This record gives sequence, C-alpha cells and structure tokens, in this order.
Amino acid sequence: MQSAICFNNIDVQPVYAPWLTPGTTLNVLRLDKLHNVVSGNKWFKLKYYLADAAKSGCTTIGTFGGAYSNHIVAAAFACRQAGFKSVGIIRGEEPAVPSPTLQQAAACGMQLRFVSRTAFKNKEALQNTGENIYWINEGGYGHYGAMGAAEIWQHIPAAGSYTHIVCAVGTGTMLAGLISGAAVNQEIIGISVLKNNFSILNEVAALLHKTVTAGINIQHGYHFGGYAKHPPALIDYMRKVWHDYALPTDIVYTAKAFYATQQLITGGSIPSGSKVLMVHSGGLQGNASLQNGMLPF
Ligand SMILES: *Cc1c(COP(=O)(O)O)cnc(C)c1O
Repeated sequence: MQSAICFNNIDVQPVYAPWLTPGTTLNVLRLDKLHNVVSGNKWFKLKYYLADAAKSGCTTIGTFGGAYSNHIVAAAFACRQAGFKSVGIIRGEEPAVPSPTLQQAAACGMQLRFVSRTAFKNKEALQNTGENIYWINEGGYGHYGAMGAAEIWQHIPAAGSYTHIVCAVGTGTMLAGLISGAAVNQEIIGISVLKNNFSILNEVAALLHKTVTAGINIQHGYHFGGYAKHPPALIDYMRKVWHDYALPTDIVYTAKAFYATQQLITGGSIPSGSKVLMVHSGGLQGNASLQNGMLPF
C-alpha cells in the first residue's frame, strides 16, 4: 500500500502460445506491475488532472465510481501522494462490510459518500455541493486523461516495432491516448468491456478532436455478457492464462482483452506475421468481488 510507484517495474512479457499464427509474435505490456494498488492505466490518466487541480488552487479532488472501481482507489492514492484531500462519490448504498477497494481508498484518506444508483446518474447534481472541489469524471474520462494515457507509449520498449496494439476499453480514454501516440502504420484495437456500448466511438473521437469515427477500431463481441460479468467460461480462461503464461488477469478488463487478442489472432483479423502488443492495463480490483479461492493468483 505504502510502496512507491515504480515505472521501472513495467516490462514486456513475451507470450509463447501454440495458437499464434505463423510469424506472429505477442507481447504483453505489464502496466499492472507499476504498483500493487495503483496499477495500470489509472495512474497515467490521473496525472494531468492533478496538475490542473494544483494550478487552479483547489485542495480537494472529487470523483466517482463503484465499490470495486480501480479508478477510485487509484485516485485516493494519487491524491494523497500529491497532497490533495479526496472525496469519492460511490454508487449504491453503503455496504455493511466495505469492499477491499473501498477500504484501501478510505485508508488513503478518501472521504467516501454513498449515493443511490439513481442519484449516481446525475453527476451535475452530485457536484453541486457548494464546496471548492476539483471534479474528475468517472473513470478519468476526458482530455487530460487521454493526454496522460498517451504517455503509456514512453514505457513500451521498441514501441515502433508493433503492428497491432490491443487494449481494453471502458470509457475509451486509454484507447484515445494510445491512438493519439501511434504511428500511421500501427493499428490500435480497443476491446469494449461493456455490452452494446456503441456510443463509445463518438466518445473516443471527441477525445481525439475528431468528428469522424472511421479508423477507430472497437470490438464489441468480447464483453462476456456485460460490464464485470464473469461467466464460468471466463474464469476458466483466466485460470488457463495464469497456468500457461503466468499472467494474472482481471474479470472486468484484461481477461476479456486477452481473450479477444487470442481470437483476433486465430481468426485472422490480426494477420499472420503481425507484431502484437496487448496492454495489460492493470487493475485487479474487480477480482476482489470473487469468492476466495476462485482464482489461483
Ligand atoms: C479503467 C481500466 C480500463 C479502461 O480504461 P478506459 O480509459 O476507461 O477505457 C482498462 N483496464 C483496466 C485494468 C482498468 O482499470
């Protein structure tokens, strides 16, 4: 919990899988190794919001999320580290036993405010508290988030050698950042973890200052039933990925993105001979919602 953020821990893990097509290589960018709590893309997405908040003179940061939100715990940690107070508006009534995520956020000094699922939908009303709070969108969606996510590129060794980069898509902020930093010959493929979230194309385009969505590749067939849904087939797959490649994944984002990567390669959408990088965006919080012992890691 108290350990430092360590960019040097980020590395690339080659995956030697029997299902790779001829000449195709697959590497996984282990952003999850950044930190044991603030793992992955959330740190990148928060960076420029915190800088902007400091510039504006605000001393308190507020943001939104669910009881297992990677964003909430990352925001709580990052705020404490940067000397901000923090407020987390949490979706749903206060649970009798707080989730590990909420416990960690509270331990970082975040003041948790529980609101009903209905009230949670109206962010404008929730922000209207009369306090001097710098608000960050749920999931860090926005221009500053994408600017920070673009810096993920700096941590990809031999970044220019990849032909295809695959990542999970929630708000699409990370995808927008990766697209903005890509070379013209690199294809960035986003795997939507929400069911039928077709408006995401425009939301990503908005972060790229574009009105056209052509050329933004988001796959909608790998949500396994919807956000955070984890049927036994997904859990089995996660066990196998751990067993075969020593790769820990999470039920919300990275297991689905890794599965999609395999399917896109074996199905030929990513042609043989490609140099593929799958971004392990971190965030194992979702797994804490599972029963103990369900996963071997
Ligand atoms: C939040 C998160 C994502 C989604 O990032 P967006 O920028 O919201 O699309 C992907 N992977 C992990 C592990 C996350 O925690």
